[in-house]
Amino acid sequence: MQVRPYQSLYVHVPFCAAKCAYCAFYSKIPQSSEIQNYLSRLEIEFAQKQAQCQELRSIFIGGGTPSILDAAQLQSLFSLIRKYFRLIDDCEFSMEANPDSLTVDKLQAAKAHGLNRLSLGVQSFNPKIRETIGRQGKLDRLEEILSAAQAMQLHDINFDLIYNIPGQSLQDWQNDLRRACAYAPTHLSAYALILEEKSALASKFNQENDEQYFEAFWQSCDEILSEYGFSRYEIANFAKPSYQCRHNQEVWHGQTYLGCGPAAASFDGMNRCSNPANLENWLQGAKPEIDQISPEARAREILAFAMRTCAGWNKEEFTALTGYTAEELRKDEIEHLTGLGLIINNDKYMYPTPKGLLFNDYILEMMI
Ligand code: SF4
Repeated sequence: MQVRPYQSLYVHVPFCAAKCAYCAFYSKIPQSSEIQNYLSRLEIEFAQKQAQCQELRSIFIGGGTPSILDAAQLQSLFSLIRKYFRLIDDCEFSMEANPDSLTVDKLQAAKAHGLNRLSLGVQSFNPKIRETIGRQGKLDRLEEILSAAQAMQLHDINFDLIYNIPGQSLQDWQNDLRRACAYAPTHLSAYALILEEKSALASKFNQENDEQYFEAFWQSCDEILSEYGFSRYEIANFAKPSYQCRHNQEVWHGQTYLGCGPAAASFDGMNRCSNPANLENWLQGAKPEIDQISPEARAREILAFAMRTCAGWNKEEFTALTGYTAEELRKDEIEHLTGLGLIINNDKYMYPTPKGLLFNDYILEMMI
């Protein structure tokens, strides 16, 4: 195992219009000049780190809510990325956006700088469910945004949806899935709500009451989305053929990425590090926290992370990347998980079964 140049870039935009009741990401409501200060500091971080990058294979602007930036600020962000980084010809270039704060001029600015994938935070179409999770906005500009994207030849569109929400019936969830599919996105992320301790939502609801329905929600994703041409390729991600998210696929398979912005994490092939999850500290140049473990422990982690994907590992590729065979690292655990029907392990491949995707936490626990 060795340190390698970064091949992907993640930019964390730490601003949101309001805080959702379930949110565990680092974000804040921006005050006066904070966005401008953020962009200035980001330029310094880009300038410091660019030399450690190869031509980028993917860029992901996430958050927070990147679309909260106005068109001029978004233009600056994209210009900085293009100024400091080289991109391969077919670089996947994604941005998360809230359909309520994204406008056609913002989309045009992003598209003009190479954006080719848009990830829309829909979460639910149901007003009552949106209220439960404290999601602001009414999605009433979603169709305008989708038409504009289509007119700009921006076809790769993801919708984020959430299930297992207190008070959400199976029928509510199935309605959300079908309504999302009616807009013909190419990719769909279906996240199970985890009630983070201390979140506003956790103090109101007891998740245990709803866990009995979890499996039914999970199965609905496969049943309904397959009718519309999607296949599950990771625990929470579904795509039409050839529309899997390259950025995430490569991250799950041990490839390198540079994270810029507060709370952003990087991986250089050996070590992970995380920028401070605090805007002020990051603006002042506080150092990232480094997670340094032995090469063997890192290889076990890399082995485990790909078990969240349906493809899992091509074992030759895993060995070429880490220098270890899977059996050298976790022979007994692999046999145990195979015996439980959670993974398939043959000479060439190791990957989770459908049951292994559902009980993925157990695979992670055993392998790491
Ligand atoms: S929009 Fe996303 S990042 Fe912002 S508060 Fe809501 S869940 Fe968190």
